[in-house]
Amino acid sequence: MNKITMNKIVEMDGDEMTRIIWQTIKDELLSPYVELNTEYYDLGLKHRDETDDQVSIDAGEAIKKYHVGVKCATITPNAQRVEEYDLKEMWKSPNGTIRAILDGTVFRTPILVSGVKPAVRSWEQPITIARHAYGDVYKATEFRLTKPGKAELLFTAEDGEEQRATIYDFECGGVLQGMYNKDTSIKSFARSCFNFALDTKQDLWFSTKDTISKQYDQTFKLIFEEIYNNEYKEKFEKAGITYFYTLIDDAVARVIRSKGGYIWACKNYDGDVMSDMVSTAFGSLAMMTSVLVSPDGNFEYEAAHGTVTRHYYRYLEGEKTSTNPIATIFAWSGALRKRGELDGNADLVQFADDLEKASLSVIESGRMTKDLALMWQGSEPTALTTDEFIAAIRAELDTIRA
Ligand code: NAP
Ligand code: MG
Repeated sequence: MNKITMNKIVEMDGDEMTRIIWQTIKDELLSPYVELNTEYYDLGLKHRDETDDQVSIDAGEAIKKYHVGVKCATITPNAQRVEEYDLKEMWKSPNGTIRAILDGTVFRTPILVSGVKPAVRSWEQPITIARHAYGDVYKATEFRLTKPGKAELLFTAEDGEEQRATIYDFECGGVLQGMYNKDTSIKSFARSCFNFALDTKQDLWFSTKDTISKQYDQTFKLIFEEIYNNEYKEKFEKAGITYFYTLIDDAVARVIRSKGGYIWACKNYDGDVMSDMVSTAFGSLAMMTSVLVSPDGNFEYEAAHGTVTRHYYRYLEGEKTSTNPIATIFAWSGALRKRGELDGNADLVQFADDLEKASLSVIESGRMTKDLALMWQGSEPTALTTDEFIAAIRAELDTIRA
């Protein structure tokens, strides 16, 4: 059989259980069919430490060059990891580093299968959440006040001009918070959202609390509106999709009544909270994909879950684990499809479609990993180990492609 050829993508290896699964997916589901052409970056914690985390920066820069990347889950070090891996420093999350380099937005989408019913009965299609991962309460300055006094908001422009307002005259103790965002970041967020909506041919919803926050949230609303009207309106009309702004309260009500099948863009805090709500209601973190999209059209695909540490420790003791590889498989199929679309490589796009189809049809046939078997509604499922499950997908893929 002739293997499919492809242009280069950036491959970022990772840690623990997902690193093991990464290799199995390549060996069993990709290399037999595709002449994999990747620029490899080892983002495993040990190698990040050896390179003083330069490897994370290099990987981000490489995505800018090739426009498509696929990433394995990685450990974000904490104090316990510094000890476990004898690290030189508590390195930052590679996801944060790469996101900063690409100035991108993360879109999370659940993968739906028939036997796992969303908690919200009306949901039939996935809901993708886009979270603006910059600023607001996550970069706020806060005071705890313990005596009466006047709180003021002061901005001193570079030219010395001052803007000043009283926030509150405290007659007692209280709390105070100052937060900010930047036009450049909001614009990038908007463009990433519009691009992703066009890319996936889905409607885009955006919501804030602009009726209460008449400068702050209103600015988000106006920037989205301006960019939409100037740069995207025609493209959206041509693609037959819509952009729709609404108050966050209204959005929440509409989301619960909807069938799904759209992108919901949220400010930082809203996205943090709503993505946990949406992913829990859809069923499983192991069935959630994530793609980082930059405003100038670079794409990085990964699973939304972490390195599944508890399974890894059991694996190290010789146990055959039943870790769900679906989100990692879909990270690969997403990246390969995008590569194929960018290059007009129809064979590669077809392979990505086949790989996803094979994965889902094994699950639909009642064979799945333990996490899904526990949630499965329908005829008695068979729980497989990761290796057995991947072997079943391989057999199905062979049948589909025969
Ligand atoms: P996690 O790796 O997502 O796992 C949490 C639990 O969720 C697991 O113990 C497992 O439950 C279940 N689970 C997650 N993915 C699964 C899968 N594919 N198949 C079956 N079960 C799955 O989160 P964590 O334990 O909080 O974090 C572990 C490490 O991952 C941390 O070092 C963290 O920094 C890192 N992390 C990385 C990323 C990323 O790179 N994007 C994201 C999040 C976390 P049971 O044990 O009950 O089976
Ligand atoms: Mg959260």
